[in-house]
Amino acid sequence: MSHFLHASSWSKLWRYLYPHHQQCISCAHTIIGLSVYEGLCHACASRIPWIMKPQCRVCGRSIHCEDCQRQVMQHRGFLLNRSAVRYNTDIRSWLAAYKYRGNERYEAVFGQLMVEGYYRLQAELSTHFGCEWFPAWITSVPASTNRLQERGFDQAAQMARWLAADIKLPYLPLLERTRQTMKQSEQGRQERIRSMAGVFSYSTMAGSLVHDVLQRHHEPYGYRNRISSYIAAPAVPMQASSLQTNQSLRVSGQLEDERNANRVIPILLIDDIYTTGSTIHNCALALHELGAQCRVQFQVISLTCARS
Ligand SMILES: [Zn+2]
Ligand SMILES: [Zn+2]
Repeated sequence: MSHFLHASSWSKLWRYLYPHHQQCISCAHTIIGLSVYEGLCHACASRIPWIMKPQCRVCGRSIHCEDCQRQVMQHRGFLLNRSAVRYNTDIRSWLAAYKYRGNERYEAVFGQLMVEGYYRLQAELSTHFGCEWFPAWITSVPASTNRLQERGFDQAAQMARWLAADIKLPYLPLLERTRQTMKQSEQGRQERIRSMAGVFSYSTMAGSLVHDVLQRHHEPYGYRNRISSYIAAPAVPMQASSLQTNQSLRVSGQLEDERNANRVIPILLIDDIYTTGSTIHNCALALHELGAQCRVQFQVISLTCARS
């Protein structure tokens, strides 16, 4: 592999030699020289609204956040969210071109945003812990079948796969939707929160996917106590752990169950936008139910492309 150039390296070399072949996907200006972010000119790349220093440790918002002061957030299923960028007019129009108009060239742009967002999250948590933090695997918020049929692809899964390939971690599609929902962009805050309750569950294959990965990795992940001191830990994982007494849900043998029961597995959950947190919360609840079935405790940390 080492003596072959990766496909994206070839395309970068090609564009460097023949820059007139490349137009910026955002402003349509010609890209001069090598672009830092594949598909974007320097001017557009310099306007990416990165969230460098989150003001809210829970949801990763870049400005003062009152959402996470609400009582209901004490019972969230995820530990924290971080987003790569703010949801400004540029990001809104890029996401629309990608999601609704199917412009595939944006896949690389969003993939690169997720990779940078991940490294920022990892640096933040690693600094806090004093050791390298990384999740055991990556999963994503599943698109509804309606949306999948309309668009032909699941943008959160694409972002998650891109990130997983880049940082060389497994991507496990663990979740599915139990029913269709209205487009969230057409709903108010309270409606969103109500309409997302119970929308997600783990898929029929999820138990065996988790079981396979757990069999290959025996080292414990020991971040839970330290991460809980970083932010107020939500109460939900404890409720989920009480489900572990359900003997009929076991997927593995007795000895393995006992060993796994002490393991806390950090999972990175990917989505395109974080708005109220209700989608992430409900996905996290489904993941905790899966954890209970597999007799392990999951710690859900989410990374979304944008924070609205
Ligand atoms: Zn441009
Ligand atoms: Zn917040």
